[in-house]
Amino acid sequence: MAELIYDETGRLLFTEEMRREYTILVPMMLPVHMTFLVKILREQGFRVELLTSTSPAITDLGLQSVHNDTCYPALLVIGQMMEALESGKYDMDKVALIITQTGGGCRASNYIHLLRKALQKRGWSHIPVISFNLAGMEKNPGFRFSPKVYLEMLGIVVYADLIMNLANQTRPYELRAGDADAMIERWTQRLLEQKLSVRRLSRTLAAITADFAAIPVRREPKVTVGVVGEIYIKYAALGNNNLEQLLADEGCEVVVPGLLDFVIFMGDHHLVDTRRYRIKWKKGLVSALIKVIFSFFQRRLIRAIRQVPSYRVPADFGIIKRLAGDYVSDGNKMGEGWLLTGEIVELIHAGIGNIICTQPFGCLPNHIVGKGMIRAIRGDHPDANIVCVDYDPGATRTNQENRIKLMLSVARERLTEKSA
Ligand code: SF4
Repeated sequence: MAELIYDETGRLLFTEEMRREYTILVPMMLPVHMTFLVKILREQGFRVELLTSTSPAITDLGLQSVHNDTCYPALLVIGQMMEALESGKYDMDKVALIITQTGGGCRASNYIHLLRKALQKRGWSHIPVISFNLAGMEKNPGFRFSPKVYLEMLGIVVYADLIMNLANQTRPYELRAGDADAMIERWTQRLLEQKLSVRRLSRTLAAITADFAAIPVRREPKVTVGVVGEIYIKYAALGNNNLEQLLADEGCEVVVPGLLDFVIFMGDHHLVDTRRYRIKWKKGLVSALIKVIFSFFQRRLIRAIRQVPSYRVPADFGIIKRLAGDYVSDGNKMGEGWLLTGEIVELIHAGIGNIICTQPFGCLPNHIVGKGMIRAIRGDHPDANIVCVDYDPGATRTNQENRIKLMLSVARERLTEKSA
């Protein structure tokens, strides 16, 4: 075991020595995005392993590790890590964990402390926990990167968002089952082998789009369902009981907003704070930079998709923000904040009226900007077919699926009427 070094607050640090010897366990959220992230970390000399288990034991281990009032995403992520540590696969003296910290006012900034408490409860307080964040919180001597690597890490969001978007628009219509998934695999491998250069960004985005567009498809009318909500529950199959697969099995096309919007949102809301609370403009400099860089990336992504007329082009961040402004203030920044409202309205404007709003039970911020906005949105868009589904350890899968299927039956009726 490496020497254990603590900072002045008593936090166990991830040191240079650990960097060379320890295996870092990374919880899964978005398969394509996380595969790229792992690649970059490995290139930087880290031993990294992605946790992909979705075993039912995870919820039980989560419940044993944290209070049952804890946000469901935290319960699952911590449960998944505990399952990995208990598996006996890892040398308990040479393993570390990584978890995100949003740096915002919501509880997601504090999951890391719950994780450390869970480790302590099991007698594993010698396992270091690394915070992955954009807000400069909890620095570790063994987990530092050059600005170029940070940029590369953030740049993978663009490629992964594009691949996810195109695969979702292609898979339900492919003539040969598995073509879209094979294309994901091919491009993931290709991008893993080359340097993720920002200079080649536009060319690479165009090449990915052209390859997906070349997959033979039959574009017949299908029920299209938008999935929005709390970031972990919306994306992670473990969090939403494999919602995307359920919708695919029901013959639907799934539309999931990309991660780029959330990254720009993080930069944007700090700027809003700087303006509203008259914080020194210098404090908003990094956020302004994040917003500018990622808005640029997003415009490139949109331009690439626009080249193929049969693809639906996602709206840019500015449009989503304007649409949300009709319902909530841009001061709403806890959880997904006004972005969740904006994503719902944007989907409706794009003609996707069937929407599932996924949220952890007891997630107050997202109930305000998600479920809480539905009535007002329906007032303006009476045809909107929206269902809010809560996820937590006590919610039964059957109940969730029944609510979703009820929404789908309305969607199918409307599709038949429209086709007729
Ligand atoms: S958004 Fe909801 S689930 Fe996420 S940290 Fe905040 S309260 Fe918890």
